[in-house]
Amino acid sequence: MAALGDFGHAILDVLFPPRCVSCRASGAVLCADCLSTMRPPASPLCAHCGRSLAVMAAVVSGQPPRCPTCAAGRGPHALTSLRIATIYAGPARKAIHALKYEGQRRVAVSLGDLLAETLRATDERADLILPVPLHPTRQRARGFNQSALLARRCAGRLNIPCRTDILTRSRETRSQVGLSLPDRQTNVQGAFALARPGIGALLAGKYIVLIDDVTTTGSTLDAAAAALRPAMPAAILGLAVARPDLTDDGPGM
Ligand SMILES: [Zn+2]
Ligand SMILES: [Zn+2]
Repeated sequence: MAALGDFGHAILDVLFPPRCVSCRASGAVLCADCLSTMRPPASPLCAHCGRSLAVMAAVVSGQPPRCPTCAAGRGPHALTSLRIATIYAGPARKAIHALKYEGQRRVAVSLGDLLAETLRATDERADLILPVPLHPTRQRARGFNQSALLARRCAGRLNIPCRTDILTRSRETRSQVGLSLPDRQTNVQGAFALARPGIGALLAGKYIVLIDDVTTTGSTLDAAAAALRPAMPAAILGLAVARPDLTDDGPGM
């Protein structure tokens, strides 16, 4: 499946008509109705971590606006900013589950397109797209890195180079689910590294976009960005398909 191009997918679609991974309607792996429910967090957004300020009880004003967590310096450190395509709920949650745990790689096409729309809407400069890598052991078990599939599709749509050979996950980490913010940060700290000496030269002065499928606190994306920082990129934008809806008393970051 990994090497299937558009033509291969077209043949598969004829032989095995896809069903929507969310509502099971026939015709597409993610139907138009389900896709249309995937909305970005409501504006205004925290300029740093991308959380919706509209849902917060206490809005920190200022220009650019920041959420209380970022205003207190507890937001992402290595990331320049973080943006999310949609809330992690409903069809988005089912789509990501189908991609990661049911091996439905075609979902990455629709979600990669959604990332491309989100990135375009930010108006941020983007020179190079990198996926958050999986540890080789986990990638072997799953057979693919879902973030790499998403990053390649997004990059292709926007005609931006995508590299999967720059960043590696040098340490296996336990799942972040259920961990507190400090524990999440500790869990992924130092888990990423440049793939080989000298490759950082490709990043100097560049506007990098780091892509992941789901983020909660941004700790994983921030740890990956920290491994890129010594190479002196101009900026690192974190971009994730989905994040649970956080309120102002959420875990932050
Ligand atoms: Zn559907
Ligand atoms: Zn923030």
